[in-house]
Amino acid sequence: MARYIGPVCRLCRREGMKLFLKGERCYTEKCGIEKRNFVPGQHGKTRKSKLVGYGVQLREKQKVKRIYGVLEEQFRRYFEQAERTRGITGETLLQLLERRLDNVAYRLGFATSRPQARQLVRHGHFTVNGRKVDIPSYSLKPGDLVALRERSRKNPIILHAMEEVKGRGVPEWLQLDAEAMSAKVGSVPTREQINLPVQEQLIVELYSK
Ligand code: SF4
Repeated sequence: MARYIGPVCRLCRREGMKLFLKGERCYTEKCGIEKRNFVPGQHGKTRKSKLVGYGVQLREKQKVKRIYGVLEEQFRRYFEQAERTRGITGETLLQLLERRLDNVAYRLGFATSRPQARQLVRHGHFTVNGRKVDIPSYSLKPGDLVALRERSRKNPIILHAMEEVKGRGVPEWLQLDAEAMSAKVGSVPTREQINLPVQEQLIVELYSK
């Protein structure tokens, strides 16, 4: 599956907020937003235009895509799936993104960022219900058991990440067993549990034009 491979701090600067794509660096003064909080590009510093209508909706969509590391085509598929599902489309869209295996690995604290979690999944460090799964977009459902593989439990990158982010907390919809390095998906996350500063309704409006 394709993924963005350009400079990631530029994405945060474009959205004007921290998207936490670089793990530990995001919490230091080296963070791109801390150092240069203006839109990237030649005229970034002087750009003053105030977004309205379509512009605001587009930025909201780009923000969510970038947070979860999903490109346009796949994001559109998530939206179509959300539209077909009973419930509030914007909320369902976020729930689908949250239930991705790479996001869950990040939420459980096995990685310092979603991009790192994605790489760990790709490298086959996780099992779902006892079977190895190396697809970052794998969609988890309530009752699924996510675990680190036996041989990955001493992986220094994962151990370091767990140490680094242990104060971050795990969302209520995931039941972490830190000792067993596994977690059960307790339920589908509610909007409150997703805890993202985005207005998903704007994305629904954008795609509904
Ligand atoms: Fe974004 Fe992290 Fe880079 Fe800061 S360090 S700009 S939060 S990716």
